[in-house]
Amino acid sequence: MSAATTRSRTPDRLCAEAVDLARAAAEEAAAPGVVGEHVGLVSEGDRVVTHLFECKEMGYRGWRWAATVARASRAKIVTLDEVVLLPGPDALLAPEWVPWSERLRPGDLGPGDLLPTDQEDLRLEPGFTGEEEPAPNSVVSGEMAELAEAEDAEVSPGAPAVQSTVPARGSIASVAEELGMRRARVLSRYGLHVAADRWEESFGAQTPMAQAAPATCLSCGFLTPIGGSLGQAFGVCANEFSPADGRVVSLSYGCGGHSEAAVMPKAPQPPPPVVDETRVDVFPLRPARDSGSVPEAGDAETAELGHS
Ligand code: SF4
Repeated sequence: MSAATTRSRTPDRLCAEAVDLARAAAEEAAAPGVVGEHVGLVSEGDRVVTHLFECKEMGYRGWRWAATVARASRAKIVTLDEVVLLPGPDALLAPEWVPWSERLRPGDLGPGDLLPTDQEDLRLEPGFTGEEEPAPNSVVSGEMAELAEAEDAEVSPGAPAVQSTVPARGSIASVAEELGMRRARVLSRYGLHVAADRWEESFGAQTPMAQAAPATCLSCGFLTPIGGSLGQAFGVCANEFSPADGRVVSLSYGCGGHSEAAVMPKAPQPPPPVVDETRVDVFPLRPARDSGSVPEAGDAETAELGHS
């Protein structure tokens, strides 16, 4: 009891003395031999005391068996309330539970997986909903749209079924479609910023590859421009030998595969073949009769020349 800890409230004497009752209850609840020393008691209220016993079970370091005992007012008999295993101040605990949405990491999404997007996702904001009406003096006002539609109808042959389903020229929907806004939600300013930061970190000016590059992507022939506001700072690399092939790169990124960094020298052209017409090369038409004797070049030459 030397290490006993008590609250400021004085524990009930009879309850505090009921250590054996508490230990027996703890031993009954626990596996045999895992209830250790009595390490303290806590006064839970009037005539209610919790006795704490060390837990010797492997894997539960720092945990304690807590047996709560109580007695009724003016009663002499102490009875058991409950027995539970509780973590102590230095107990080995499982890590804090983290919701799946916070545990998710880039690359975790596999084929067939569905990743729900929060309704309040800060990276997105509403796109064109079709609810806005153009101002009366707008170039896309109702009158203008009707006019444009009428013009379109005059020059569009064929039955209605074969007519285009794209929004009428001059309508808000058509303008929104042109700007890539005709979706329920589009990237918000915050979404643009976090994407740009992420891309800059992977393929930006501060990366070791860019620091050692002979020139930036801005002047590289393999850079494919992208649209939208992000196109002012990023493009897509289309050099299959670059580590950034098919990736969005900052215009200030660069790599050794830059199209103009080192122009490959032309392969030397072999000289044209020389035909020496001053010499006669002799080729015997038949193999020598005696396989052991090879005709002398002079003999064969003489024979061929004599024959001609
Ligand atoms: S090849 Fe290199 S320098 Fe050229 S666009 Fe790709 S990453 Fe940029």
